[in-house]
Amino acid sequence: MSGPRVVVVGAGFAGAATALHLARAGARVVILEREAMAGIHATSQNAGMLRTAIADPALARVAVAGARGVEAARAWTDVTLVRPSGSLLLAGGSARKELESVTPDLSALRSTVRWLEPKDAVSRVPALRGGTFEAALWSPEDGVVDSAEYFAALVRGARALGAQLRLATEVLGGDPGDDSQPARLATTTGPVEADAVVIAGGAWSDVVAERLQVRRLGIVPYRRHLHATGPLPTVDPSWPFVWAVDDEVYFRPESGGLLLSPCDQEAFQPCEPPADPANRELLARKVAAAFPGLLDLPIMRSWAGLRSFVPDHRFVLGRDPLAQRVFWAAGLGGHGVTSAWEVGRIVADAVLGLAPPPPEFAPGR
Ligand SMILES: Cc1cc2nc3c(=O)[nH]c(=O)nc-3n(C[C@H](O)[C@H](O)[C@H](O)COP(=O)(O)OP(=O)(O)OC[C@H]3O[C@@H](n4cnc5c(N)ncnc54)[C@H](O)[C@@H]3O)c2cc1C
Repeated sequence: MSGPRVVVVGAGFAGAATALHLARAGARVVILEREAMAGIHATSQNAGMLRTAIADPALARVAVAGARGVEAARAWTDVTLVRPSGSLLLAGGSARKELESVTPDLSALRSTVRWLEPKDAVSRVPALRGGTFEAALWSPEDGVVDSAEYFAALVRGARALGAQLRLATEVLGGDPGDDSQPARLATTTGPVEADAVVIAGGAWSDVVAERLQVRRLGIVPYRRHLHATGPLPTVDPSWPFVWAVDDEVYFRPESGGLLLSPCDQEAFQPCEPPADPANRELLARKVAAAFPGLLDLPIMRSWAGLRSFVPDHRFVLGRDPLAQRVFWAAGLGGHGVTSAWEVGRIVADAVLGLAPPPPEFAPGR
């Protein structure tokens, strides 16, 4: 292989998808991952919902293309990756106005998206009876992905196409290089040189940038909790995922019970975030307000993960404004599973000079 040498820092959804697209286009790719296993941070702590009904049209476009891309990963797994459940976004008041204002954009991307009366939403999910929502946005093409298997397929694909994965290799420092010299990275397993470096460090992306002497972009991780119930006889596993946009709480069927989140967001240091036992009370309050048909849920397990954002909540994709050999695949917030395939394609095209990323995601915006 004689393509450019590209180092991808971080083996989560962002890094794995970018490495796959780069390797497919002939780049010589090395993924450096600090942990002894790939994908153990946000990538394995999420709810696995392929949500494309997003109020920001720029994010919705990437999410739709990303969700369609999941099927392409079937080339590297025998497992059925997606349960095409559809999604219901319950809304009233200002949330409804905001979603209504973008419904034409959403419909242009996915023609099947439509608004339902509350009674029609209840007929799909009887547990919504008694809720105070005014309408529900039904997105039948949304679904739930086996995110562990999807991630494993992306890594398998990248490796099958020639990418190397170096685990237990933390980037400690380095020099971003310039016109005349390659980037040089100092890692816990020795020095690495590269024609291009992709920062895909999730919550640590700004830390990685600083270590490479690249300006931070203001990426802030926010902790969010998920809670899983034991089996519930009233739950139908074919239900869509349901997101109450005003109350900010969601649930979906999981293993005979439900997986739920009260959509908490607390700024946090990059770390492995502990679950706060008090979060179950917040969940109980929000469920009582939004889904009165779902009281006294038997929560069996709770955990937390970090969603990382820049202030405008759009992704950061493409070349760094100052360091020409450095590229970003970061700030994926709560849409990194859905969008991974397309994020990887956009960043790989930027690294290889095949196509510029959409300007709304430019790191220098
Ligand atoms: C509770 C929760 C629910 C979510 N639900 C959904 C959902 O339903 N649908 C959806 O689309 N998205 C969801 N997400 C978002 C999704 O999980 C993330 O956007 C995505 O996993 C981010 O992937 P990443 O690769 O950017 O980060 P990460 O998975 O954190 O990967 C970054 C990697 O970089 C490595 N790294 C960091 N620093 C270094 C260094 N110096 N050297 C080497 N390696 C380094 C880390 O060890 C890590 O493995 C959810 C997230 C959370 C927390």
